[in-house]
Amino acid sequence: MRDFGGIVERSPVRVVRPRSAGEVARAVREAAAQGLDAVPRGLGHSTYGQSLTAGVSIDLRELTGVEVGGRHAVAAAGTSWREVLAATLPHGLVPPVLTDYLDVTVGGTISAGGVGGTSHVRGTQAENVLALDVVVDGGEPVVCSPAVRPGLFDAVRAGLGRHGVITRATLPLVRAPERVLCCTIPCRDAADVLRVQREVRADDMSAQIKPSDDGGGWTYEVKAVLHGDGAQPPPGTTDTEELPYFDFCDRMRPDVEELIRLGEWARPHPWAMVFLPAPRAAAVIKATLADMTPADLGRSGVILVKSLRVGHVPMLAVPDDPVLFSVLRTASPGCASAAEMLAANGTLLDRTRAVGGTRYAVDSVPA
Ligand SMILES: Cc1cc2nc3c(=O)[nH]c(=O)nc-3n(C[C@H](O)[C@H](O)[C@H](O)COP(=O)(O)OP(=O)(O)OC[C@H]3O[C@@H](n4cnc5c(N)ncnc54)[C@H](O)[C@@H]3O)c2cc1C
Repeated sequence: MRDFGGIVERSPVRVVRPRSAGEVARAVREAAAQGLDAVPRGLGHSTYGQSLTAGVSIDLRELTGVEVGGRHAVAAAGTSWREVLAATLPHGLVPPVLTDYLDVTVGGTISAGGVGGTSHVRGTQAENVLALDVVVDGGEPVVCSPAVRPGLFDAVRAGLGRHGVITRATLPLVRAPERVLCCTIPCRDAADVLRVQREVRADDMSAQIKPSDDGGGWTYEVKAVLHGDGAQPPPGTTDTEELPYFDFCDRMRPDVEELIRLGEWARPHPWAMVFLPAPRAAAVIKATLADMTPADLGRSGVILVKSLRVGHVPMLAVPDDPVLFSVLRTASPGCASAAEMLAANGTLLDRTRAVGGTRYAVDSVPA
């Protein structure tokens, strides 16, 4: 069995596909009785074996369903964010933070941290949770929240499934806009990207660094997305596009379909994702890019920069004022090999640690 990274392979003793918290609890108890690890798996979109095991794989994709009531939703852990959105949007509501890609699971991203375009204002998905139903190590189903078993609540959020299996999450909801205005702001370099992300007020914010057309360098661009009518593009905007809100949330889908068609989606993905302290981020990004050519990123690789705010999520180690720098490599034919890309990820992690940064633990960096 592999994950999206396509680098690590594990053969589980068995795969169970529970449809209820009770079935999860039984699977955890049976694994413990045999002395086997029980490792939860959402859609396996982590990239270096985080959802894989040689013990019992608890595949949560059949534990799905969403109920919307008032200003919250209760979602089973294997539900994708696409399915959550499909349930909440008819009520004009949406979770405060959505991942850029909707086809990852509620349990998987809460266990990772879950960063999205609104994370500069609203933090991670892991802190936008009201309560969790969890099957703990002995196989007992319990509920936890900031008020009930807060220690467990803190251990499972961003806990990578090591302290229990989330079976259900109660999520707060906020009002969803009907349309959004996407504004493109070209930037000179990484420092300029960080300045724009700091100074511009936007509801959703991201930045991408791409190989320049002449192949001799990199181009930098911030996307500032404004919710609601009458929004005015921020200074520096060169291009705008108005979109229905759902189309904006699902913006990655056409690219993903193309990558599947090209075979790139199935290739190894040695992804580096690090949290840098903002004052040192531009220097690390600059040094990383100076070492890199487009072949080190792969044909469909992507580089993202996202300033964010992280609230109370003890298991998510981040520096003060964090910037998520993601070098999302694809080992395409004719480009650097997966092993070379992993080595480059190791260099980035060394640079990150040298300035007090940390890794986002769903990345691919050899231990
Ligand atoms: C195309 C793509 C886009 C992505 N976009 C984003 C993004 O926008 N923001 C972001 O933060 N990350 C993103 N990620 C990174 C990250 O891999 C996922 O957030 C995370 O792995 C969730 O994916 P998943 O649901 O497939 O979980 P998995 O990869 O299956 O699991 C992730 C970890 O959580 C554990 N786990 C899974 N389910 C549970 C559960 N119910 N209870 C306890 N532990 C559990 C697993 O054991 C594993 O350690 C993206 C990954 C890909 C491939």
